[in-house]
Amino acid sequence: MLTDVAPWTPTDAYVGGDWVEADEGRRFAVTNKATGEVIGEVPSMTAVETRRAIEAAEAALPAWRARTAAQRAEILQRWAALMLKQRDELARLLTLEQGKPLAESQAEIAYAASFLQWFAEEGRRIYGDIIPPHQPDKRIMVFKQGIGVACGITPWNFPSAMVTRKAAPALAAGCTFVLKPAEYTPLSALAVAALGEQAGVPGGVFNVVTCDKAGAAEIGAEMTSNPVVRKVAFTGSTATGKILMKQCAEHMKRISLELGGNAPFIVFDDADFAAALEGALICKFRNSGQTCISANRIFVQRGIHARFAAALAERAADLTVGSGLESGVQQGPLISPDAVAKVERHIADAQARGARLLTGGRRHTLGGTFFEPTVLDGIDQEMELSSAETFGPVAALRPFDNEDEVIRLANDTPYGLAAYVYTENNSRVWRLSEALESGIVGMNTGLISTEVAPFGGMKHSGFGREGSKYGIEDWVEVKYVCVGIRPAEGEA
Ligand code: ADP
Repeated sequence: MLTDVAPWTPTDAYVGGDWVEADEGRRFAVTNKATGEVIGEVPSMTAVETRRAIEAAEAALPAWRARTAAQRAEILQRWAALMLKQRDELARLLTLEQGKPLAESQAEIAYAASFLQWFAEEGRRIYGDIIPPHQPDKRIMVFKQGIGVACGITPWNFPSAMVTRKAAPALAAGCTFVLKPAEYTPLSALAVAALGEQAGVPGGVFNVVTCDKAGAAEIGAEMTSNPVVRKVAFTGSTATGKILMKQCAEHMKRISLELGGNAPFIVFDDADFAAALEGALICKFRNSGQTCISANRIFVQRGIHARFAAALAERAADLTVGSGLESGVQQGPLISPDAVAKVERHIADAQARGARLLTGGRRHTLGGTFFEPTVLDGIDQEMELSSAETFGPVAALRPFDNEDEVIRLANDTPYGLAAYVYTENNSRVWRLSEALESGIVGMNTGLISTEVAPFGGMKHSGFGREGSKYGIEDWVEVKYVCVGIRPAEGEA
């Protein structure tokens, strides 16, 4: 059963090149996040089917890794081209099951395809080294090999891009892959798999097992304990990341973790005011604030703070909220009732501790999981939204007086994914770039995601980098061969 999406959109899981049901035939519903209506049902799988998918990936590994990088690249490029050709259908599906405005979904599909393109190329440049030897009769060479069978667990906020950001480097490096997409958004992952199949990805090289929320832990446990699996890549909450890391430790399995953030967004008096305002809007309200790099705490220097807060509130109040499929909509629904409850809790806590509401603050009159774009002023470090990721459309501001103070405040969080700074002072650009404890710094920009740069965090935001030339490193083993050489016969 599938309503309202392109007819080719699969609703079965994908294992060993076959489209399959769960063994017990159980399925779970995927809903349209704007209306709550069921749009399709996908298999609710368990550890048993996951094990089978891992076996399929293991069986497919020798032939896949034996291909040249160029042969693998050709398939990945074809896959990207198919995604771009079907961009409208993929974007519509993404908006239906995730909620973000269609324009953002279109951008995500292009972003998702860009990882296939980038790593198709990068896979051809997995260079080794020849190292000057430590003894005259030795030679040392270093080469890098695809790590083997890998697993990925992805979140719902970027249901297509998080899939390719992991699968593309894995496949390019000669690994085979088993994916568990988020329960809220499995259809986008299955659609990506269908296009991979069309592009010529051999059966077993890329597999997708789906499960409902209750089944995720069981599948995660299989992925992290199965001895065939050499690496697990995860994007999601810090809490789940810690569980997976503990499980991987038990089996000495490699893991990369792209976890939660609590991004500071810092605006100095000397900033380009209009640019900073635009940056804050896009950085905060894109995807309804449901990105791990969304501005969570906005620090504005005292001289412009009041004017900036008023301007941001005015612009936020003007955002058009509605179904992502409607033209002109700038903010869609939140992913779930739980997400709305968290946003409400953060706002109530902040208000109870003295923050002032400048706009929004309530569920939207559209009902469902729609929420008003909200601006709060006068937050402090004690408030829940200063220590935990809000993941919703709440811009929370506070004034600051000087650079040292704001660096201290910005770094006063367990997280370290993204940070943003607006200043026209060139020396400050360098000082802040170095002082901020985050894997990514947006300097005079609120948009920082691209396949050509290394995405990832520090502290409780995890480790590992995705995208860029660094992104391939997580998917290879470094091997060094020490070659002893004897003198030519009879010449010693
Ligand atoms: P969020 O709270 O944003 O949904 P999660 O970390 O719970 O973030 O979810 C991200 C991904 O992790 C989803 O695919 C989800 O199904 C999966 N997941 C959640 N809990 C576990 C777990 N214990 N083991 C493995 N995967 C999990």
